[in-house]
Amino acid sequence: MTKKPAQRVKHVPQRTCVGCRETLPKRQMVRIVRTDNGVRVDPTGKAAGRGAYLHDQRDCWVRGLRGALAHALKAELTADDRARLEEFINTLPLDGAEASN
Ligand SMILES: [Zn+2]
Repeated sequence: MTKKPAQRVKHVPQRTCVGCRETLPKRQMVRIVRTDNGVRVDPTGKAAGRGAYLHDQRDCWVRGLRGALAHALKAELTADDRARLEEFINTLPLDGAEASN
């Protein structure tokens, strides 16, 4: 168990998508957080816990769920976790579609 101090950076925060490994501004990403109650989407981006980021694109989520996400979170995804995440995937636009928000 290693604990890194929180970093405070002023420039535009960039995050790496665990699905495609691209780096993008944080606001184009969705944070997923590992909590005591399981892995879930963190719409606020501020929930406590180990976090990982995915593009708001289905492709990346599908890829992430195959293993990269669990690896990034250092967690096993339970059936419940998967169900929750898959529910979220269903709200995402299909690949190539323009996001309306
Ligand atoms: Zn991606």
